[in-house]
Amino acid sequence: AKLDGRNQATFFNEQMAIDSNKLLNLESELRKTLGTSRYKLYYQPKVRTGSHELCGIEALLRWTDDRGNIQPPNEVIPILESSGLIIDVGEHLIYQSCLQLKKWQDQGHFINYALNISARQLLNSNIVETMHKAITVTGCDPQYLEIEITESVVMSDVKTAFDKLVKLQALGVRIAIDDFGTGYSSLAYLTRFPIHILKVDREFVKELPMNKDSITITRSIIELAHNLHLNVVAEGVENIDQIKFLETIGVEEFQGYYFGKPMPLEEFERTCLPTKDD
Ligand code: C2E
Ligand code: CA
Ligand code: CA
Ligand code: CA
Repeated sequence: AKLDGRNQATFFNEQMAIDSNKLLNLESELRKTLGTSRYKLYYQPKVRTGSHELCGIEALLRWTDDRGNIQPPNEVIPILESSGLIIDVGEHLIYQSCLQLKKWQDQGHFINYALNISARQLLNSNIVETMHKAITVTGCDPQYLEIEITESVVMSDVKTAFDKLVKLQALGVRIAIDDFGTGYSSLAYLTRFPIHILKVDREFVKELPMNKDSITITRSIIELAHNLHLNVVAEGVENIDQIKFLETIGVEEFQGYYFGKPMPLEEFERTCLPTKDD
C-alpha cells in the first residue's frame, strides 16, 4: 500500500508539473506577443428589442497561438489576470477600442461600444487615466463607450470600485453589470453606484421560456432594473421563443448567436453595419 501511495504521489506530481509547465509556456507566449496582432478584438452585435436594429457591440478578446489557433478567452483571461499582463493588454485594448469607435463615428455609425474590464484592470491599474488619454488622443465621443464589469469585481473591493466607477462615469463612459444574477452580492450597491445597464446572464436566458425559475428570476431582474432606471440587455439569445418572451417582459436589448456571433472586424462591418444610402 505504501508503494502504491508513493507511485500515485509521483504520478500526481508529474501531472501537476506538466500542467504548470503548459501554463508557464502559455504565459510566456502571451507576454512575448504583447502589442502584436495576435491579440484581436471580435465584435458581437447588440440589437434593440422590437425593431432588431443594431444598437451596439460587445468587443471580445481573441488571442491566436503560434499555430494559428484561436484560444478561448476563458483560458487566456485568467492567465493574463493572474500574471498581471491584463493591465498591458487592457491598455492596448482600450486604446484600440477608442480608435475603432472614432472611425465608426466618423463614418456616421453611432453605436455603443462595450469593452470587458476585469478585476485587476479596474482595481489595480490606472484605468481612469488610460481611458481619459485614449478618449482625448483618439477624439472619440465617450458617450458611446461602455465598460462591462461583473458583480464580483464590485464586491471584492467596494470602496476602490466605487471611486473608479465614479471617475469613469465623469469621463462620460457608461457602466454595465455583466452576468447579473450569477454572483451573490449586496443589491444595495445598485442604488449607490453609477450603473446604467444590467446584463441578464445567459444561464437564465438559456432556459426561457420553459423553466419556471428562469422566468421568475428574469422577470425580477427586469423589474428591479426598471425601478432603478437601468437598461436591461439579455445575453445568449439563441432562438425566437426566447426573443418573444423577453419582448413581452420588456428587455431593452438583445445579444446572442441568434443575431450574430462574435466576429472579426471586417466581417462585422460587412454583415452588420448598415450600408450607406447613396
Ligand atoms: P462575457 O462577457 O459574459 O461574454 C459573453 C460570452 O458569451 C462570449 O464568450 C460570447 O461569445 C458568448 N456568447 C454570446 N452570445 C452567445 C450565445 O447566444 N450562445 C452562447 N452559447 N454563447 C454566447 P467569449 O467571447 O468566449 O468570452 C468569454 C468571457 O471572457 C467573457 O464573458 C468575458 O468575461 C471574458 N472576456 C472576453 N473578452 C475580454 C476582454 O477583452 N477583457 C476582459 N477583461 N475579459 C474578456
Ligand atoms: Ca461581457
Ligand atoms: Ca456576460
Ligand atoms: Ca455570461
